[in-house]
Amino acid sequence: MPRSHRFDHDKFTTRPGKSVDLDKQSTTADDRITKADAKKELEKDVNSLSEVQRLLWADGSRAVLVILQAMDAAGKDGTIRHVMSGVNPQGCDVHGFKAPNADEVLHDFLWRPRKFLPAKGQIAIFNRSYYEEVLVVRVHPKFLEPQRLPPEPSGKDLWKSRFKDIVAFEDHLTRNGTSVIKFFLNVSKKEQKKRFLDRLDEPDKNWKFNDADIRERGFWKDYRKAYEEMLEHTSTDAAPWYVIPADDKWYTRAVVADIIAARIESLKLQPPTVSDERRAELSEARKRLMAEDA
Ligand code: ATP
Ligand code: MG
Repeated sequence: MPRSHRFDHDKFTTRPGKSVDLDKQSTTADDRITKADAKKELEKDVNSLSEVQRLLWADGSRAVLVILQAMDAAGKDGTIRHVMSGVNPQGCDVHGFKAPNADEVLHDFLWRPRKFLPAKGQIAIFNRSYYEEVLVVRVHPKFLEPQRLPPEPSGKDLWKSRFKDIVAFEDHLTRNGTSVIKFFLNVSKKEQKKRFLDRLDEPDKNWKFNDADIRERGFWKDYRKAYEEMLEHTSTDAAPWYVIPADDKWYTRAVVADIIAARIESLKLQPPTVSDERRAELSEARKRLMAEDA
């Protein structure tokens, strides 16, 4: 049974073409909800997700692609772990996007994600995604060199053309039955520092520390600009970006789960109906089974 959703999803939704000032967006939990309540909501949504995934599988005509983008230590991994904890692993794939290998880099930038797209009935989660091509690659244009791009478009036009390509790609997916659900986990610079310090100070978190993360933190402003433009130009009615406050992990997880469950419920999936003819076949199969000696 679909449940009513606790969070106001509109509040997190980026409208197509609307400019975004990330410094004005909240990074913390709504103070009208307590941590205990959010945990209860998350639990309900984890159950709803388990149910809707079964329906997605039974219906077999739709697929779901969840994309998570964020600065380091914003909590992408933990969000995936908690939100998908009730989902049948056979119906869900997670794929992380690192720097492309020598083969991948010589293909167009939307070649790599294709083989990880979800089949009908499946959920795929992209932990980072092709959006890195308008984020890390934009902040560090040296990543463009091995891509051997044609001379034009270049400069600002290159990013504009990539936004267009992405929108066309996601429209294509949507028209062919894949729902694209995109989250930007919005962590503050202050909270990121705190999380990095935890990784340095707590021995059991040392393994999480990566020197490159501090280097990238030095480009915070450039990343914010790149994210803002990405949000403005690649939010569409069918596949809007949701900007989720990420300084309070319990809040992030509850809101993400609530939105994914609602988006899948909105597909109004039904288990396949059994025709009279098929029912007769099933009854025949039953008779045969019952007629066995054993
Ligand atoms: P975690 O740190 O939680 O394990 P992560 O997603 O940060 O997860 P890393 O291995 O630390 O994983 O980082 C992957 C790196 O690969 C990121 O810095 C990302 O920006 C980079 N990357 C992803 N796609 C591209 C790309 N197309 N070109 C260049 N770099 C990319
Ligand atoms: Mg990392």
